[in-house]
Amino acid sequence: MTPTYEIYAIRYAWRDARRHEHFIGGDPHDAPMPMDYFVWTAIGGGRSFVIDTGFTEEVAKRRKRNWLRCPAESLKLIGLDPETVKDVILTHLHYDHVGSFHKFPKAEFHLQEPEMHYACGRFMRFPKLAHSFEPDDIAGMVKLNFKGRVRFYNGQAEIAPGVSLHLMRGHSAGLQCVKVNTARGPVVLASDVTHFYENMEAGRPFSTAFHVGEMLEGFETLAALAPSPRHIVPGHDPEVMRRYPAAAGLEGIAVRLDLEPSA
Ligand SMILES: [Zn+2]
Repeated sequence: MTPTYEIYAIRYAWRDARRHEHFIGGDPHDAPMPMDYFVWTAIGGGRSFVIDTGFTEEVAKRRKRNWLRCPAESLKLIGLDPETVKDVILTHLHYDHVGSFHKFPKAEFHLQEPEMHYACGRFMRFPKLAHSFEPDDIAGMVKLNFKGRVRFYNGQAEIAPGVSLHLMRGHSAGLQCVKVNTARGPVVLASDVTHFYENMEAGRPFSTAFHVGEMLEGFETLAALAPSPRHIVPGHDPEVMRRYPAAAGLEGIAVRLDLEPSA
């Protein structure tokens, strides 16, 4: 039988933003729309997976993000030690998803190959696209690959019973989302396939995009992968903290995505 996993979202940073910043073409209503930053974990079947590693305090300062806690250290709150974590899934290589990779000395990193090609390729000469990456993160991943610590995929892959990766592109050239089996059915961790519920629900792509068409297709693929919209978890929406029950003793810090949301 396929194991079921507990899924945690840990909120490690946030930023103030306005609605027009989150949609291609802007937004007629210039209201506040803050953004949260998360790392996720899936624990079950005798294994644990960390999904994305978040950014460091130094990068938070430089990019003027409100850093709440070290994403790697925060894993200890749910019983995982970054020093011994074996598997890290990187949904993509943007700074807010890979920045603390060096705090996982034993991990193998699971990444889509097109993302590495993109981050090392010709488009990085354009600040519009390069802005989302930290060159030191990319160099770090290249070096880890030479040490045999990066496992590449091209498309869909089941990396453990009940944990599968899905290449979704759009926002970044090799973005992937993660589908995890839970007691309430498969939950799709969308990461930046949809930053907010609203991107997906309104079919309005997020402002940072590599391929708008594939981003729009991504919203449809999310819906196809999940048994219901309540099984899709956006990558940056503060609503996630409101809709899901807090992890035991971690009110305002971490929520359980394997449990039923309120909406
Ligand atoms: Zn992101």
